[in-house]
Amino acid sequence: MPTAADPTGRYAEFHARSLREPEAFWAEQAALIDWQEPWSQVLDASKPPFARWFVGGRTNLCHNAVDRHAAAHPERRALIWVSTEVDQEREWNFAELQQEVEAAAAMLKRRGVGRGDRVLIYCPMVPEAAFAMLACARIGAIHSVVFGGFASHSLAGRIEDCSPKLIVSCDAGSRAGKLQPYQPLLEEALRLSQHKVEQVLWIDRGLVPLQPQAGRDFIYASEREAVRGQRVPCEWLESNEVSYTLYTSGTTGRPKGVQRDVGGYAVALAASIRHIFDGQPGETFFSTSDIGWVVGHSYIVYGPLIAGMATLMVEGTPVRPDPGIWWRLVQKYQVRVMFSAPTAVRVLRKADPSYLTQSDLSSLRALFLAGEPLDEPTARWIRDALNKPVVDNYWQTETGWPILTLARGVAPMHERLGSPGLPMYGYHALLVDPETGATLEGPNQKGVLALDYPLPPGCLQTVWGDDERFVKTYWSSIPGRQLYSTFDVATRDADGYTFILGRSDDVINVAGHRLGTREIEESIASVAEVAEVAVVGVADELKGQVAVAFVVPKQAMPEDALAAAVMQRVNEQLGAVARPARVLVVQALPKTRSGKLLRRAMQALCEGRELGDLSTLEDAATLQALAERLKPA
Ligand code: AMP
Repeated sequence: MPTAADPTGRYAEFHARSLREPEAFWAEQAALIDWQEPWSQVLDASKPPFARWFVGGRTNLCHNAVDRHAAAHPERRALIWVSTEVDQEREWNFAELQQEVEAAAAMLKRRGVGRGDRVLIYCPMVPEAAFAMLACARIGAIHSVVFGGFASHSLAGRIEDCSPKLIVSCDAGSRAGKLQPYQPLLEEALRLSQHKVEQVLWIDRGLVPLQPQAGRDFIYASEREAVRGQRVPCEWLESNEVSYTLYTSGTTGRPKGVQRDVGGYAVALAASIRHIFDGQPGETFFSTSDIGWVVGHSYIVYGPLIAGMATLMVEGTPVRPDPGIWWRLVQKYQVRVMFSAPTAVRVLRKADPSYLTQSDLSSLRALFLAGEPLDEPTARWIRDALNKPVVDNYWQTETGWPILTLARGVAPMHERLGSPGLPMYGYHALLVDPETGATLEGPNQKGVLALDYPLPPGCLQTVWGDDERFVKTYWSSIPGRQLYSTFDVATRDADGYTFILGRSDDVINVAGHRLGTREIEESIASVAEVAEVAVVGVADELKGQVAVAFVVPKQAMPEDALAAAVMQRVNEQLGAVARPARVLVVQALPKTRSGKLLRRAMQALCEGRELGDLSTLEDAATLQALAERLKPA
């Protein structure tokens, strides 16, 4: 049936079929990748909420991303790397990329890394990090990339959870011209971690001196020499073997390792490039994300390459050397598909608009934005400035590819500003009442966005090492029903467009980075002078949200000193991304009679909104005192 979003009705039929006949639908999509051996069963749904896709099929992510294109089009551009931080630009065609990836695979094998072993990658945006990811995929090792902006405490938790046999790291990254040495952070993380790592492979960019430890540390360039000319074939993996884990924040202080398979992920990405991003082999895909995030995994490294596209990987900020840099790169590399985040667009919106008209952007087909809510004014501004479709897409680390957006590769579709669009094929998305579990059918009702079983290919298989946590966290929060909860509150209008209203849990989103307030609180609570702490996310014009910390000191002390100690601790333990924008010292925190923090009221106070239901509040004076504290001096 034609709708405002889908005027031909073709997408509705495509989506309906994906749910009606999932096996036939996904078997067709699976033809987009190479299989060494076909599967015996498309979907094993015998153990909900676990799902296994393409059971018995054998394939390899690296073969699909690199080797098959190197064989068919060796000269075709594969990876372009630009660093506006160190002023370097390099590119590799598919044949060259295969050589580099094989070399990295040989280095890993030489260090005893094999199928099923974990390799943690803690790097800035350097090409070797992408080689290492693909090399792991090639030999069946499981990579776990940790965002280079995280600090030692965050890193240590991840090292402990995934127990890597080897870590790949780098002497330094650079952000906005400021060098960020990695070794001190990694050494501290190794010291903190119960799991002892025996080998570290260092990429030495010559930015800061490394202090290698004999027997533990190896230098990438020397190892590269040592394996020169060695060939390493792809390991054919069963579709449900593990390709990688990627940690993400939740409501507890302990991040979860989102675990992904091989075959389902490859199929999901190949299908998404065709149906959602509308990218063709030989074209260029530019995602401004970082390899430490899920967008970097899916749409810097694997997705574009699997589709035979060139991928443009950039180390740098959107405004350096000036706010025209991304548009010049679009022109220079004839970028067809660009993927960024609303915060970056808000940053660019503050700059001189002429930067947008100085480059020839005729190659660009559309701009995709994700990671945080895309507000209407930002969407309107960039759409009008580019005069191109701007496509919001909503998803999560857990799903690996968009849940809600528009599938322009399937049918002509119309956006509605403020909404990411419609449920994608394969996703049975529902709005449910969080109190009763009832499905909300009518328009404009507010509920939790949930997904019915099974999740489509590409989504998380489980939480690494903890099936119970997977079931408990994601599949047990809706009363009476086993549904996957996104923990996002949403509403749907009469035309079927879904609007995301915010999280229903204690997760906040700072400039597209997902952070658990609990993690930040734990870090702050480790400051000796702190008795109690509450962290809330507060609306921010540029970053979407920022963290604000309310701190109760053990004994009276100067506010500035305590705030500085708190900031420093978070910086050292978690990294600058998690640092609160404000630290407010208060005498008590508002709590319910049963002792629960009234975070919503604190957040509302910070945002100058109505405080809502305060019937459970134990002591009204605490809230009043907070309000006083928030008044401008
Ligand atoms: P992450 O797993 O870090 O990608 O964060 C996922 C969360 O970011 C979602 O659960 C949403 O809360 C938010 N998010 C991502 N994309 C969007 C979007 N397009 N619109 C609104 N919120 C989004």
